[in-house]
Amino acid sequence: MLWTTDIDSHMLGVEELPKQENITIQVSQSLIKNLDKEYCPRRLYEQYILGKEGEATESMQKGILFEYYLNGSTGIHNKKPLEPVMKNGKRYVDYERIEQQARRVGSLLSQYDFCLDDQIYNVEISTMFEHPDMPQPIIVRGRIDQIATRKGKLCIIDYKLTKKIDSDHSLYSWKSPSTMNHTQAYMYMWLYMRNREINPNGTIPQFYYAVFEYDTKMDYEIIQVEWDATKIREIEYAIVNSYHKMLDEQGQGWPVRPAFYECLTCPIKNSCKQRKKIKDIKLV
Ligand code: SF4
Repeated sequence: MLWTTDIDSHMLGVEELPKQENITIQVSQSLIKNLDKEYCPRRLYEQYILGKEGEATESMQKGILFEYYLNGSTGIHNKKPLEPVMKNGKRYVDYERIEQQARRVGSLLSQYDFCLDDQIYNVEISTMFEHPDMPQPIIVRGRIDQIATRKGKLCIIDYKLTKKIDSDHSLYSWKSPSTMNHTQAYMYMWLYMRNREINPNGTIPQFYYAVFEYDTKMDYEIIQVEWDATKIREIEYAIVNSYHKMLDEQGQGWPVRPAFYECLTCPIKNSCKQRKKIKDIKLV
């Protein structure tokens, strides 16, 4: 696909974009989620077209360490991510709890009849997707934390780490998962079902979140999201919609749209002069 633009990136104060290049738009659940909220198109270009990694926030870094303690890998690196320590060299209690929670995952899940013997972690899964509203097939991809079985049935487990499961500070809490958006769960079931290389029979897997907190209670929740065939149309609509949004942004030359939280973890925040360093005043 060719892309051209008249926009001079120097005027925007960010790295210059090549004037013309072949780009491929691939859709993932995280791109869909990003396009559903306030976003900066240039940031999406850097992350989802060029594949640059955003900067991890503290809570993201904790999640990466949790993942490392779970399976000795983070999906990207096999090296242990750096853990911050106190000035006296001691560990922060948060990190101790994160490690303890990760260490008990196997025995806890076995009490729920999950079989993790044939452990399959960090599975990159993709499918070619065609739709009459798109000019060409596109690749839809995702990274599944773990494929396992429960009572003999194939399942996907997605691990989540959170400070407090029963958070009073959030509209959305893992204590009431029905209020949350489960695009990721449906998308992963859909992806797995379609991928005939690893799933020749087209089996629909079960999907579970295994949520662990690192607050004093060290609580956890196991949540199953039930397959719902009516969601297929929603997933496919979201994919097509995301593809067209990306195409629109491409047509406009991936403009910058600064916003405090977007800029905070943007891969090019150090070179972008449009970066927003202060929060907006809230209106009530
Ligand atoms: S720093 Fe902010 S404005 Fe600049 S590209 Fe990144 S998200 Fe957009």
